[in-house]
Amino acid sequence: MEYVKTRTIMTKSNQGNLWFGIDYHMNLYRGCSYGCIYCDSRSDSYHIKDFDKIKSKENALQILEEELASKSLKGVVSFGTLSDPYNELEKDYKITREALTLIKKYGFGVSIDTKSDLILRDIDLLKEIAQNNSVIIKISITTYEDELAKFLEPNVISSTKRFEVLKKLRENDIYAGVLMTPVLPFVTDSVDNIKQMVRISHENRANFIYTKMGVTLKSNVHDYYYERIEKLYKGLSKDYKTLYGNNIICSPLKYSDLLEIFVKECNQHHLLCDMGEIIKDYKKKIPLKEQISLF
Ligand code: SF4
Repeated sequence: MEYVKTRTIMTKSNQGNLWFGIDYHMNLYRGCSYGCIYCDSRSDSYHIKDFDKIKSKENALQILEEELASKSLKGVVSFGTLSDPYNELEKDYKITREALTLIKKYGFGVSIDTKSDLILRDIDLLKEIAQNNSVIIKISITTYEDELAKFLEPNVISSTKRFEVLKKLRENDIYAGVLMTPVLPFVTDSVDNIKQMVRISHENRANFIYTKMGVTLKSNVHDYYYERIEKLYKGLSKDYKTLYGNNIICSPLKYSDLLEIFVKECNQHHLLCDMGEIIKDYKKKIPLKEQISLF
């Protein structure tokens, strides 16, 4: 594996209350080979060259340990905002697993976003971390249809398998739910997809399902996405260009109606879908004051 130089691993988050109560961000890897056609991390704004090639950061674990030891707030550390922490190399290199071991040692919490079943390997550590701090796992699923998911996320396990991962995490009493982002206009923004996603999440014992209706398409991501989406529905890229122009945020035409249906379905299935309520729910066992004074 190729390594890139870095001075820091963890960065303080200033969006905790807006995004899953996260206190620190961390990306142990750079790049991702899962090939999602809408991936925002591909944007030039993140300066990741050869995005599809996975690299790691030099001395990542050593730097991480120094940083964990120096922080007074034993908050929630987010894994994988710009790359999936359970990529194909993680199976052999175990960098994410080693980082979780450090998180446990220093008493921090974790928030993990993934599309991979490799997270099941680390259930033992997640359970141990949850004894002293907060743990939240977000399984990223955009559509319940496996064939469509294969097109949108070509190198990822099927949506059906991702729901099974969710179920196994829940069977192990790990707080977990579904991250249904992005919602792609004309592709995954059907009422059927929204209703099925909520229903299947509920059947697999999700604690929550969270969505943001729409997709973020920054400059160079536009072209990458349009080129691929055209293979799915001919003429669709033209419709996007007509409707959204150079907008970065592309929301479904019936945004408000869809959101209303989503919330109604979640309420019927007793699934949390509001960011504030999700944060309150998964952090309820360890109040912030205790997180600071516990260690
Ligand atoms: S798994 Fe996440 S980081 Fe990787 S390509 Fe897909 S959206 Fe991008």
